[in-house]
Amino acid sequence: MALRRLSAFRPQPRRTTTSARVRAVPPTVFSRMSALAASTGAVNLGQGFPDTDGPSSVIEQAGVALRTGHNQYAPGPGTTDLRRAIAAHQWAHYGITLDPDTEVVVTTGATEGIAAALLGLVDPGDEVVALEPFYDSYAAMTAFAGGVLKGVTLRAPDFRLDPAALEAAVTKRTKLLLINTPHNPTGTVLGREELEAIARVAVAHDLVVVTDEVYEHLVYDDHEHVPLATLPGMAERTLTLSSVGKSFSLTGWKVGWATGPAELVSAVLGAKQWLSFTSGAPLQPAVAWALEHERTWPASLARDLQARRDLLCDGLDALGLPVRRPEGTYFAVTDISALGWDDGLSFCLALPERAGVVAIPLQGFYADGSSAGRQLVRWAFCKEPAVLEEGLRRLGAADLTA
Ligand SMILES: *Cc1c(COP(=O)(O)O)cnc(C)c1O
Repeated sequence: MALRRLSAFRPQPRRTTTSARVRAVPPTVFSRMSALAASTGAVNLGQGFPDTDGPSSVIEQAGVALRTGHNQYAPGPGTTDLRRAIAAHQWAHYGITLDPDTEVVVTTGATEGIAAALLGLVDPGDEVVALEPFYDSYAAMTAFAGGVLKGVTLRAPDFRLDPAALEAAVTKRTKLLLINTPHNPTGTVLGREELEAIARVAVAHDLVVVTDEVYEHLVYDDHEHVPLATLPGMAERTLTLSSVGKSFSLTGWKVGWATGPAELVSAVLGAKQWLSFTSGAPLQPAVAWALEHERTWPASLARDLQARRDLLCDGLDALGLPVRRPEGTYFAVTDISALGWDDGLSFCLALPERAGVVAIPLQGFYADGSSAGRQLVRWAFCKEPAVLEEGLRRLGAADLTA
């Protein structure tokens, strides 16, 4: 009798284990392409992580923190020192004033900042307008929040913002604009006029703006990163996201932050407390130290990256792959139709075997149905020059035509 009753509670096989919410979002292309790079021994010009670490003094500080008792939960909003250092960074670079207690929250990378912003600000049915191609977590997290992502396409070959397209994408259901500058994957750094167009639309329609500025320090030539929060009328409606990963070549640390008006920051905190709650206790003091004591490091990284950008772009050009020289970020985008391909995914899946190189197809980075990115492929240049040279040598030796 007892046995029979127990068996009634045995888990029954279900048709599908994974939730509809997760099944609706395709797995991130970065894992797939990095796994392909690992299994084929290809040069990985796909996923955007540097192959050398950030400043040793900062890593040393993390070691000190590990050895001196920073191993239990940090406060949910982040340590006081780190929140102060983030506020001081925004002031020193951009003249933005923030109250570290109410207008700054530390997140588990900008990725959690994106997730918490969307979960904390978007209701089911709300529309989120994002520049496309977009960082893939924007689509996943908008969907998890029950929102609807609308894309405004930055079109090849120069990937500029079309203000009319932005205006046209906004409807009565639009809740927020999700902006990314410097822009991954196109390398566009939005200029003043483009930012003013965004500000005009945001103010006219009373929208919240979430702006992902993780590449804020990685800009080239005479381009300048201008935070959206510094435009007139924007401070009170803009939530700015950034992180230590890209600026200090510490992508594995996953320490990020969201800054802006207390109302928006508290929406992030409201969601974030149920995601990670807190993370990186021994890393937070080291990140605070980096922001205070290694202020010039990101600019020297940018000078380095600019030379690597030129190495990669000159090489791709020479191979007959038209490339738009990016103004910022880790990435350059090429159009592969010149080689006779009409589909970047097939090209990228063939590339490891053809050439021993991995790149990222852009077609997954657009809202449903858009074919604007079908023939676009992203290459990362945040790699050692020898790695870039080897990648180019392999591409040069291979038959890349369709
Ligand atoms: C890398 C990246 C992120 C993620 O930042 P983490 O701090 O590593 O979570 C967010 N947005 C964009 C555009 C990125 O390229």
